[in-house]
Amino acid sequence: MKTFQKELRRRRTFGIISHPDAGKTTLTEKLLLFGGAIQEAGAVKSNKIKKGATSDFMEIERQRGISVATSVLAFEYKDIKINILDTPGHKDFAEDTFRTLTAVDSVIVVIDVAKGVEEQTEKLVEVCRMRNIPMIVFINKLDREGKDAFELLDEIEQKLNLTVTPLSYPIGMGYDFKGIYNIWEKNVNLFTGDPRKDIEDTIEISDLSSSELDDLIGNTAANTLRDELELAQGVYPEFDNKAYLEGRLQPVFFGSALNNFGVRELLDCFIEIAPPPRPKESDIRVVEPAEDKFTGFVFKIHANMDPKHRDRLAFIKIVSGKFERNKNYLHVRHNKNLKFSSPNAFFAEKKEIVDTSYAGDIVGLHDTGNFKIGDTLTEGETLNYRGIPSFSPEHFRYINNADPMKSKQLEKGIDQLMDEGVAQLFVLEFNGRKVIGTVGALQFEVIQYRLEHEYGAKCTYENLNVFKATWVEAEDEKSEEFKDFKRVKAKFLAKDKQDQLVFLADSQFSLQMTQQKYPSIKFHFTSEF
Ligand code: GDP
Repeated sequence: MKTFQKELRRRRTFGIISHPDAGKTTLTEKLLLFGGAIQEAGAVKSNKIKKGATSDFMEIERQRGISVATSVLAFEYKDIKINILDTPGHKDFAEDTFRTLTAVDSVIVVIDVAKGVEEQTEKLVEVCRMRNIPMIVFINKLDREGKDAFELLDEIEQKLNLTVTPLSYPIGMGYDFKGIYNIWEKNVNLFTGDPRKDIEDTIEISDLSSSELDDLIGNTAANTLRDELELAQGVYPEFDNKAYLEGRLQPVFFGSALNNFGVRELLDCFIEIAPPPRPKESDIRVVEPAEDKFTGFVFKIHANMDPKHRDRLAFIKIVSGKFERNKNYLHVRHNKNLKFSSPNAFFAEKKEIVDTSYAGDIVGLHDTGNFKIGDTLTEGETLNYRGIPSFSPEHFRYINNADPMKSKQLEKGIDQLMDEGVAQLFVLEFNGRKVIGTVGALQFEVIQYRLEHEYGAKCTYENLNVFKATWVEAEDEKSEEFKDFKRVKAKFLAKDKQDQLVFLADSQFSLQMTQQKYPSIKFHFTSEF
């Protein structure tokens, strides 16, 4: 039992979120270097889809291949087991990222010093804020000209609705970038622009008024630093670990991932303050990670790349207890026992079969179609984890079978791809036609390609004018109002895969009119309500 507690306490499972190009991949790579998990830079592949690659299927395949490998990157640093969960930056895959965020215990937000807060950062941070996920902000690319530190901190507070406190502070920037003052550890780290620079170079400066600082960075820079730090101390609250853990305060670090500068400071503080596995709410009770019975949930499903073995890997976040190989676990939705002979654990960029994994860890289970996103596994208790949302899709097309001999394959393919969360399927009530809804337009090509290459089925699409799909919740299903709604809007009603009623509004205007006309009916933008 003692090992169990120790194993729990030393786990940190987190995600790095950012707008594409802010430096997420670069930072991930440097973190792995610190852990000794990789030997050289360039080992972590970016999984982003380049602009203009929309119709490049090889690119999609390449991306999928990489994202299996980098779904979970685990390494050890100072006896802490760190699990980084990959979150695709491309907006067409944002839903995947949202789901992954249900499996992290904290996040690091990367912001480009010149670009500041960007669109994708805003969306992702909002999701984290709503869930009170502890966040650390890393302002990257300080070796380049960018915005002033105060301006950035201000922008983060305004646009992201956060309360920040700097734990490191830049000395100059771009051409004049001299280094950072580590408020957390009270020392100075001088920038040499050498990415292999040793971490021993930090210089202890516990007293800012000491002339040692002037000797190091020059009189002018030293005075500016003193002034700005004093100002910062007056403006920003002192760091408070509890407030950070409760999602009320976000510490900020500055650095340059590419130059491996400021990354050690970030990592050292991270392992100290970031939370070990956190309790999670289920439909019947809150489950504590230290409970001895295993529970976990599926947050991601990935088809394997090998076309000869068409199985899939279901990624399980272990919420409580430990997961053991060859032990029977209850698949709650199917009410059936399953055991797994080859659960995968993840280490840096490879996966290995392991006997035991602990709360906080991710295991990859081979799946032949039992799982869908959101499924719960337990040691026997009937409980379901909530909080894996489906978002209202924004792109819609009819999907048609283009090869009548392969209709079974098409159906199976659609079914499994939907379980993976690639897109959502709606069946129109009045004519039974199938409509695919996606968050990003790229998914239509991914689906078509995968149906053909993995299931041997061919499909065509047909345009359909839908503005948004909203989930319908009636106060009283027997009311005249609801009956009237169902009659008048019959052509716009569909069922999703869970048999929930969905209203496909053809314009923003018609959605508003419908909302006004039927005040007792709620129209939800996520399926989680
Ligand atoms: P991601 O899309 O967020 O994963 O971003 P990447 O890590 O792929 O970085 C995007 C680009 O920014 C790449 O060309 C990196 O080399 C570059 N980059 C990352 N960090 C830094 C940095 O600290 N300074 C500079 N100048 N460039 C950086």
